[in-house]
Amino acid sequence: MSDLASFIIMAAGSGSRLGGTPKQFRDLGGMPMWFWSARTADHLFKRGAVGEIVLVIPAGCENEIARWADQLCAPVKIVRGGSVRAESVDNGVRESRSDHLMIHDAARPFIDIDLCERLIAAAFEVGASVPILPSVDSLRAISDGISTPADRNKIFRKQTPQCFNKKKLVDLLSASSTDRTDEISLFEEAGLPVEYVIGSESAFKITTDFDWRTALGLVAASSETRVGYGWDVHELVPGRRLVLGGVEIESPLGLLGHSDADLICHAVSDALLGAAGLGDIGTLFPASDERFKNADSTKLMEESAALVAADGWRIVWIDATLIAQIPRLGDLIPMMRTSLSRHFTKFAAEDKLNLKVKSGEHVGSVGRGECMICSVAVTIERCRI
Ligand code: MG
Repeated sequence: MSDLASFIIMAAGSGSRLGGTPKQFRDLGGMPMWFWSARTADHLFKRGAVGEIVLVIPAGCENEIARWADQLCAPVKIVRGGSVRAESVDNGVRESRSDHLMIHDAARPFIDIDLCERLIAAAFEVGASVPILPSVDSLRAISDGISTPADRNKIFRKQTPQCFNKKKLVDLLSASSTDRTDEISLFEEAGLPVEYVIGSESAFKITTDFDWRTALGLVAASSETRVGYGWDVHELVPGRRLVLGGVEIESPLGLLGHSDADLICHAVSDALLGAAGLGDIGTLFPASDERFKNADSTKLMEESAALVAADGWRIVWIDATLIAQIPRLGDLIPMMRTSLSRHFTKFAAEDKLNLKVKSGEHVGSVGRGECMICSVAVTIERCRI
C-alpha cells in the first residue's frame, strides 16, 4: 500500500450555486457526477498506481454511495465530510492509509488517467504536484477601481487532483487555517518544492449552469449506444433439471444441454457479448470443453457481463422474453427476475432487467412442449471523453 497512492474524492460540498441536488450527486450520463472520478481512480487501481479510494461525502448519503461503490474493484473507504471543505479534507486525509495522497474535487468529472499517473510520479519525486493550465484570455488586475496589466504568461489556473507526500501534507495541515481553497497552496506558501504539470481542459470544474450544460453536451457527444440481441433454444426432456434464470424449478421435464441449459442466462450473455462485439458464449465457453459440463450458467453470464464492463460499457437495460408452454411459469417471474438481477449488481447500481414469459399458444415445437425459447435485447452505452 505504501507505494500506491490513496485517491481521495471530495464530494461533501453542498453545490449550492447550481441549486437543487448537490451537484456531485446529479445524474451525468447515467451515473452520479462523483462516480466519474471514482471510475478513473478505479482504472488507476487496476494499473497499479492507486491502492484505495477514499470518498468524502455528506452525512446521510452512505447507503446511496455504497450502492455505486460496490461496482468498483478498488477498496473504498467512505468518510463523512465536515462543515467546511478544509475539515472534510482533514477527515479524508486522516482515514487514508498510503504514504502518498491525491486530493480531487468530485466537481471535475472528466480527469485524464495519463495525467493522474504523471502527477503521482511527480509527487513521489518532489513531494507535491498540481495540474495547471495557462489562461487563454488577456488578463487585467483591477483593484479599488485601478486597473493594472497582468501578464497572462505568468498566471496559471490550478486544477485537481493535487498529489502529496502524506507526511509533509499532514505537517502543513496541522498548522493551517480552514479558509484555504486548496492544499497545494500550503506547500507554495511554505516554500516547499512543487511540480507543476500541464493539466487538461476537460478537467474543468462544474460550477455554473453553463458548466453543467457543457458537461451534458460533452457526454452526449462522446457517447456510443449499442443494441445487442441474444436467442437460445433448448429441448425439454425427462430426467434433467429445469433451471431458469438461476432458479431451479420442480418439473418432470428439464432442459437438455452441456451446461445446466439455463437458456435465459445464455440468451442474456449472447445479447451482451453481441452488443459489445465480443463474440458469443459458444466460442467463449464451448460445449466441447469439459470444464463447462453441467456449468452454472449464471457464472457464464456474470463472466460475459464482466468482459463487457471491462471494455468500458455500461448496461443500460436488459429485456428478456421466455417462451414456454409447460410448466406454467407466470407465478415464478418475480423470483427469476430477482435471481437474474442479483448477478448484475456489480455492473449496474439500479435494477436494469425486465423478464416476460409467453406461452407457446399450443403452436409449433414450443406449443407442443418439446422445447423452450428465449430471446433477449440489451442496450449498452460507452462514453469516451
Ligand atoms: Mg444455450
